[in-house]
Parts: sequence; C-alpha cells; structure tokens
Amino acid sequence: MNEIIKEILKNLPDSKVSDSSFEAANIVLYTKDREFFLDNKGTVKNAVDAVKKRIELRADPNILLDEEKAKEVITKMFDEEAGLQSIFFEKARSVVTIEVEKPSAAIGKQGQTLKEIKEKTMWTPAIKRATIIKSQIIDDIKALLYANSEERRKFLDKIGHRIYDGWIRGRANEWVRITYLGGAREVGRSCILLQTPESRVLLDCGINVAATGPESYPFLEAPEFKIDELDAVVLSHAHVDHSGLIPFLFKMGYDGPVYCTAPTRDISALSQLDIIKIAKSEGREPPYDMEHIKAMVKNTIVIDFEEVTDITPDVRMTLYNAGHILGSAMVHLHIGNGLHNFLYTGDVNYGASQMLDPSSTRFPRLETLMIEATYGGKDNIKDPEIKADEQLAELIEQAVERGGKVLMPVLGTGRAQDVMILIDKMVKTGKMKEIPVYIDGMVWDMTAIHTAYPEYFTASVRKRLLNKDTNPFLDSYFKRVGSAKERKQVIDDEGSCIILATSGMLVGGASVEYFKGLAENPKNLLVFSCYQGEGSLGRKVQRGDKEIIFASGQKQEILNVRLEISKIDVSGHSDRNALMNFINNCDPHPKKVIVNHGEASKCLDLASSIHKQFKIETIAPKNLETTRLR
Ligand code: ZN
Repeated sequence: MNEIIKEILKNLPDSKVSDSSFEAANIVLYTKDREFFLDNKGTVKNAVDAVKKRIELRADPNILLDEEKAKEVITKMFDEEAGLQSIFFEKARSVVTIEVEKPSAAIGKQGQTLKEIKEKTMWTPAIKRATIIKSQIIDDIKALLYANSEERRKFLDKIGHRIYDGWIRGRANEWVRITYLGGAREVGRSCILLQTPESRVLLDCGINVAATGPESYPFLEAPEFKIDELDAVVLSHAHVDHSGLIPFLFKMGYDGPVYCTAPTRDISALSQLDIIKIAKSEGREPPYDMEHIKAMVKNTIVIDFEEVTDITPDVRMTLYNAGHILGSAMVHLHIGNGLHNFLYTGDVNYGASQMLDPSSTRFPRLETLMIEATYGGKDNIKDPEIKADEQLAELIEQAVERGGKVLMPVLGTGRAQDVMILIDKMVKTGKMKEIPVYIDGMVWDMTAIHTAYPEYFTASVRKRLLNKDTNPFLDSYFKRVGSAKERKQVIDDEGSCIILATSGMLVGGASVEYFKGLAENPKNLLVFSCYQGEGSLGRKVQRGDKEIIFASGQKQEILNVRLEISKIDVSGHSDRNALMNFINNCDPHPKKVIVNHGEASKCLDLASSIHKQFKIETIAPKNLETTRLR
C-alpha cells in the first residue's frame, strides 16, 4: 500500500475504510459504514492535517441507492427554482453530477440539499451549472466523461500513484531546465518542455495554422522529448496555436493527464474537431482522428484558478487568470519543494476588457517568468478597448448606411463573444439599429460553452449572463448559420448584416467562404480583429493585396478585393505598455525573464527593454534551445 494511504489510515478509526483510491492529487476513501459516511466526527479532518492533502470520504459503491430510485429522490428534491436539467451517475466513484440552471438554489442554505441527498441516497452529489444554449459538443463531452466511471477511476488512480509513489527517476532538487519545442521567436505552435530529474512536463502543444508542412508543428522529434517519459501536459488556453496538436500526443501513445480549466477543455475539443474538418474539406490528411480527441478529453483533469495541485512528485501547479480568453490561464510551477518557481504566462492580457478581468500579478513565489510578446514591439500600442469599440460601432454604421455587409473573421472564442456583447449593448441603447447578426457554426457552439461558465467573466457580464432577460447571447437578432446552403443565402440576401465566422486569419473555415462571396462588392466591410500570421490569406489582404488567386479544381480563379478593409485589434493580448506594467506589478518581481511567442524582432525588443527598465536578466531564446533555470 502507498505510504500516504498508510499514514491516513493510522488517523482513522479501525475498519471504517473499505477502499481507497487516488483521483489525481486528491485522495478518496470509501466506507461501507452508513453512519461514518454521514458523520465521521472530524476524523477525516485530522487525517487531512496529518498529510496535508485533500481527502474526500465517499460511500462504498456497494451501499449506494439504486440509480433509478436515487434519480427519483433527487428529482423530487429540486424545486422549480433550481431548474433541474440532467443527472449523471458515476457508480465506480460514487458520484452523481446534477446539472441545474441555478446552482445556488440547488445547493440550498448551508448546503442543506446536498446533505439531504447524501442521507437519502449515499451518493456524493456534485452540482454543475447547465448550459443555457444547447450544444452538441458539450453533450458529447459529458457523455464521454460520465459513461465510463470504472475506467475514469482507474485512470485517476494511476495518476495519483505516479505523483505519490515516491521518486522513481533519481536524485531530485538538483536542476531544472526548459527546452523550446515551438513558439520561440514566433507566434504559433507553442510548446515548451520542462525537465527535472523527476519530471517531464509539456506546457502547450499547438499548431501554426498559417504555416504549411513541418513548420506548422512543434519539434517533437527533438532528442529531449520522449513521449513515453512524459508525465503531464498543461494547457494554458484553448487557441489552436497552444492546444491544436495535443490529440497527436495521444496518437503517439501518450496516456497521461492533461491539466487545464474546464472551459479550456471544452473549447479545445471543439477547435480540434474543426482542425479535422478543415483538413478533410481541403483534401489534406488531418494530423489525428476523432478517437485521439476523445482520448484527450477522457484524460483531462480540470483545475480551477488558484487551486493548488501536485502534478508530479516534484512539481506543484497553480493556474492563475490570464485575462486572454474564457478559461485562459497562466501556469505557475513550484518545482522541487521550493527549489525554483516558474511562471508561464501563455497569452496574457493585463489590460481592461469587457468580458474578463485583467490577469493576476500576485504569486506566492517567483524566480523565472516566461512572457509572451505578440504585441511586444515598441510601436505596439493599442487603443483602449472602449475606443476600439466606438471605432467598430462607427465602421458598422457606415457600412450599414451604404447597404453593405460586415464580415468579421474571428477566432472562435474571445473577440466573437466580445462583439456579441457590444452589439447587444449598442442595439439596446439605440446606438445601432437592429440588423441580423449571423453566427457561423463553430462560433455558435463556442458561445454556448461561454454560457456554461459565467463565473469566469467580469462581475458585470456575469450578472447579465445569469439573467435570461439580460443575457446578451440570447437575443433574437443573433442567428445561427449551420450549413453551406444557409451560408450562401446569407451572402446572396439583400440588405445589411454582420457575420461572425472562423477562422480569424482567413485560413480554412467559413470565413474564407464569406470572404469569397463578399470581397468584390465595395459596399461591404471586412474587419480583422486578431493577429494575422505570416503566410496567411488574412495577412495578404491586410497588407493590401488586391488580387487573390484561389485554386478551383484544376483551374485558378482570381478574386478582386474591393471591399473596405479595416483592422481593430482587441485580440485579448497585452500591448507593449500592458506587458511592461504587468512585469512592474508582478509581486514578487521575477529574477529572470524569458520572452517568447512573438516575431523575432518583437521578442528581442521586449527582452532588451525589460532588461533596461527593470535591471533583470532577460533572454529571447530560439526554438530547440534549452535554458537551465537552476
Ligand atoms: Zn491565444
């Protein structure tokens, strides 16, 4: 038996525990004793104090009330107010997940309802918020997670053993190094390998969609990277340049955990499905299949912001709000019991945004900071979001007045929902007349995911989301476009409209179809809202190319670009000033800064400015270089 479990059992009354299991870094004890389950008289708390780990006591699966009967009991207990939607049983873990519209009403005063469920059914209830907008992808993910509780329990237990079963590889507390497998001096294919004598952890594994061939993928063939040695993957956020290649790791044979927030898991899975779909529609072989996305979802362990968890024997992880998109996190790693503290910002926004709070800046300890530099150049000074919004409102108004259509290529998540909230505000305050806003397939599903996680938004947006009457995403002028036929109709229809469609760089996806349909009419307007990668169609159009050649079967078609083109950058990244302010306000100050995720000139420029202003060591490494942190 594992040493930690032995230590815990010493603190508990004899023979009360029938079984024990790890759920990643958490410890779960099972009991067949009804009374002990309902009231353990503080003994579990004593055990927690002894080992300083999270311990949960559940009823043994053998004494659970039958699922059908438990369902009846639970259904009866929830009044109209809570809005019961669905119930999922995971027998092997003794957990019942109950989805409701109003979790606070369902939990009851001081958790009274939860206590009653335990008393009447022996199941351990987990209350979750139901999505307000129906979405197939969310239903599919749930089905995957809840259907196989036996398998899930085994998997989580295996992860726990890897964390707690003592050190296998050798001497710890000696060195820490990181290798840049992608995303160094470039935007796209972010991928960083952290190594200690004990651990191999991968931070992000993305695809550069603007590149072709091997340039689009990280250097997974680097000698430092061995798939069968990999202990854990940590995903900062769902954009495909960070998440896009994770299913490929499973194709290579990885079977370990992926840590991220819950919205990141859902949005990533949806984006990865889109990668397969786009590849197939362009006649390319996708890098992985559906089964590998499923494997990733099954192996994902979701972590809330500021929840501390062990991920390997010598790495303790905490995710902090990054302010970039829904669920985006900065990854803080406490390595080797205090040997070194490392923060990876991922993509970070320290500026104000209407959807998300600015990124955190307070950490328990910090020695090395790895920061992004997408807009790290001296001249990357963004207008404040409020000004950008006014500018967008004005542009839309002009286009509508001349009878044009407005196309906004967007990343599925982030600016799309921002724009929906903005349009909702403009219509409701009479600043814009009501016109249809078409939300193309994936953006719609992304929006549905957003409605499931109101707690990740700023207080004011959260409040609006929680009320059906003020929820900005439920307005009737938002219309879903689900098929190629509907898409054609939107293009051919008379009259003005706004269209939100992926991809953001006009590389694959519905936005390219709309662009082809709308580009030749000078009344129309195209508004870019995110970074346009080198080599992408978006970059060419933004640069002012007036003739675009498309392959159409064997023939070539020339598209004349006549529509108005504008760029309003509010892509959820910090600009130069916000990056410098972020470092200035980091508490504690880092001793060393590594700059990545930016074009070479921007990385070098930012690194040199940070060095001058803060008098700390900075580097802007290249891909395949390795840095020793300790
Ligand atoms: Zn991003």
